[in-house]
Amino acid sequence: MRIDLHCHSTASDGTDTPAELVRNAAAAGLDVVALTDHDTTRGHAEAVAALPEGLTLVTGAELSCRVDGVSMHLLAYLFDPEEPALLAERELVRDDRVPRAKGMIAKLNELGVPVTWEQVARIAGDGSVGRPHIASALVELGVVPTVGDAFTEEWLADGGRAFVEKHETDPFEAVRLVKAAGGVTVFAHPAAAKRGRTVSEARIAELAAAGLDGVEVDHMDHDEPARARLRGLAGELGLLVTGSSDYHGSRKTCVLGEYTTDPEVYGEITRRAFGAFPVPGAGGAGV
Ligand SMILES: [Zn+2]
Ligand SMILES: [Zn+2]
Repeated sequence: MRIDLHCHSTASDGTDTPAELVRNAAAAGLDVVALTDHDTTRGHAEAVAALPEGLTLVTGAELSCRVDGVSMHLLAYLFDPEEPALLAERELVRDDRVPRAKGMIAKLNELGVPVTWEQVARIAGDGSVGRPHIASALVELGVVPTVGDAFTEEWLADGGRAFVEKHETDPFEAVRLVKAAGGVTVFAHPAAAKRGRTVSEARIAELAAAGLDGVEVDHMDHDEPARARLRGLAGELGLLVTGSSDYHGSRKTCVLGEYTTDPEVYGEITRRAFGAFPVPGAGGAGV
């Protein structure tokens, strides 16, 4: 049985539509595939509708979290997609652009810059409001000569005086929310050092104590020593160990089923979850 528990579709930053993803998963010889788009479940219905015979779909999402100033991803499986608290948190992460822009405007006001939300919204027009629009407002107001000059520590650069971080969920809160929605959590690619700083083992131990179910070990961003270290840590902490492709279609080089999860671990995930159930493809045996 071949099980791939981490895949993206066009519902976030993958290039396969959800329907293409499940067809490609079946063609790749997978028995189980999880759809885990970033902070959204909106691809689920299409994937279910297109599910080929013999393939089972695990519904999920990959949640954007941050702890100790380090961004991290939390895979959440088989939670109830309608559960209001978790749904609100996913929306907050996705729809953070406006509150974030307003936060930066408030900081600018505190710094004595008379920029307003109305001004920035006018500049953004139909586009998704972001820092470049606030920067243009600063140019209009004569605060800086060019948009580029607004992207300094004095103003809007990362860590700058008027900068506001993207909203990302505290992972302890995320674990709690997913559990309350009947789901199971797995820390995605915890040792992917290429992506920046990683979360400490002490924090992973605390997350395990707080109810984290597992860690993704076999992943393209982990070298052999990292995998060995994570396997040891998972053993110590009693965490499940998963492997998965983190497939993004043609956006990344990994292929479906490049890494897989042990059927026993998959079985344990499905036993723990009660927010949703794996969906067997029409006419398939189901697993
Ligand atoms: Zn990720
Ligand atoms: Zn991913």
